[in-house]
Amino acid sequence: MILLNCGNLTIEGESIGGLATYLRIKELDLIFDLGRCPISFIGTNHVFITHFHLDHYFGLPIYVSQRWLSNMPPGKIFVPAEGMEQLQNILDSIAKLDSQQTWNHHLISVKIGDRIPFRRNLVIYAIAVNHIIPAIGYLVCEIRNKLKPEYLGRPGSEIAELRRTGVPITNQVELPLIAYLGDTQSVSMDSHPLLNRCQILVCECTFLLPGDRQRAKKTKHFHLDSLISLVKNFNGDKIILTHFSQRYSTHLIQQQIEQAIPDPTQRAKIGLFI
Ligand SMILES: [Zn+2]
Ligand SMILES: [Zn+2]
Repeated sequence: MILLNCGNLTIEGESIGGLATYLRIKELDLIFDLGRCPISFIGTNHVFITHFHLDHYFGLPIYVSQRWLSNMPPGKIFVPAEGMEQLQNILDSIAKLDSQQTWNHHLISVKIGDRIPFRRNLVIYAIAVNHIIPAIGYLVCEIRNKLKPEYLGRPGSEIAELRRTGVPITNQVELPLIAYLGDTQSVSMDSHPLLNRCQILVCECTFLLPGDRQRAKKTKHFHLDSLISLVKNFNGDKIILTHFSQRYSTHLIQQQIEQAIPDPTQRAKIGLFI
């Protein structure tokens, strides 16, 4: 399993195109996609599935059954609305085959445009992506209370007194922490106003070579050609690339990225999840 530190967040898991993608951000108590389910992920309480290609959700029966066997409350599993009923049937069939019972699970259907508060100070937006089957990207924001500009610089005792008397002295602001797009052919910064300045943008990069352009187009996956404009338009800290085709070696991936983004300052923005 790979561990990648990105500031105050750690991305943990694996991601290989067509094989399996599962990423956990322990600090946020969430998992993005669950193509396999390592036992260490069982205790994480929120799972966000981008789409129903097998390499992105087939760890779910393990996640659900292990929690059920351990008498844990079911984790919250957020899935695209288009496949929720079928997933429900799959989980029930597997449970029946396994133990002649149904496992307690908690599926929540998600549509593009949804805003989902999922922890005290965290909210997730379901954003549009561009894949061959219905798919959703996710953007996590932290909600913070910020002092209104008119109260900035006032003494602490005065602020405390205003707060005590119930004067609304703060505004809520949302800080974009991490976006995970799952499988997508392109990244549109129009899909959410905060997307282009999120701290970490996790983006697939299945195909790299010129000979793979047609395949990328046909299967609606990201090609290295699109990375150049993405890096230019992105004002956040890091772009983490995942989901490389299994046909590429680590050496080839590094070499291709170096060639595509020769400027070291721009390249410093890119992290590889390999
Ligand atoms: Zn995939
Ligand atoms: Zn896919």
